[in-house]
Amino acid sequence: MSELKFCQGPECHTYFTQDRLKGPKDNKTNQTRRRSSLNYGEFCDTRCEHAWLSKYATRAVDHFGRLNEVKHLTEENAWTKTYDWRASSDESHRHYFLNTITKEQRPLTEAQYDDRSYTINTGE
Ligand SMILES: [Zn+2]
Repeated sequence: MSELKFCQGPECHTYFTQDRLKGPKDNKTNQTRRRSSLNYGEFCDTRCEHAWLSKYATRAVDHFGRLNEVKHLTEENAWTKTYDWRASSDESHRHYFLNTITKEQRPLTEAQYDDRSYTINTGE
């Protein structure tokens, strides 16, 4: 059995839904949602995600680095990941990098597409 993850929404237990009401029949309490996998990263829904951001965004930005100057989109950092949905014989999609400025395409494996840290962008 997989371990349950707790929604990290600071107010999750304060929202009234049937699935949050847990415990013995005569002593049910509203509880933080737990799931084997959460649909919104660390959160059960966008309301909990937003509640966390409202409470911690400034501290998180200060911790990970505040942006203090404009960024510029250039050919070097304009690569995005995308795919064509293809109903080919093997039912696979064609994944590729697309440069949103030059429109150049470069092949990408599905694993590279899924790897959020994998990029060919250089600079900021
Ligand atoms: Zn939640």
